[in-house]
Amino acid sequence: MCLPVFYYGKETGGAKMANGRVRVTKEFVWDCAHMLAEHEGSCKNLHGHTYRMEVTVERNDEEPQVLAGGPASGMVVDFSELSSIVKHVIVAPIDHSFVYWTNTPSMAEIALRALLEEHDMKIYPFPYRPTAENMCKWFWEEIQDNLPWTLKLVRIRIWETPTSYAEVNL
Ligand SMILES: [Zn+2]
Repeated sequence: MCLPVFYYGKETGGAKMANGRVRVTKEFVWDCAHMLAEHEGSCKNLHGHTYRMEVTVERNDEEPQVLAGGPASGMVVDFSELSSIVKHVIVAPIDHSFVYWTNTPSMAEIALRALLEEHDMKIYPFPYRPTAENMCKWFWEEIQDNLPWTLKLVRIRIWETPTSYAEVNL
């Protein structure tokens, strides 16, 4: 069911409000290193990116599109609440880490992980080849599992460079 966004029109004297789903997006930025095993170009080498991730949510279909009443009235979710969830689940663990593929066929990646672990350096285990595409799909589950039940994830977009991104949509 799609509830109208202008249900609180009475409060505004019936002023017109746009129809359509209301969504909010928060951006996150982190730095990390990775390598793409078996890549035929320069991505097989150890290198890093400043990743930028956009996380878009809306309230689930059983809920009004924005909260009514309380400190977050008129909001899908307080940006600070969305921010703290994603920072806790994704950004804090991955920032300034070496993201390694736990099933990598690369002896270099295995050796690098062991070296970093031995020296107590930050590593981030990742079950798939750490492309932006796979990050979108993996982070989707991680974020959705940690959102309040009232919120629905509708898009994740991850920029690996200023001109390249991958995304997953509902
Ligand atoms: Zn890369």
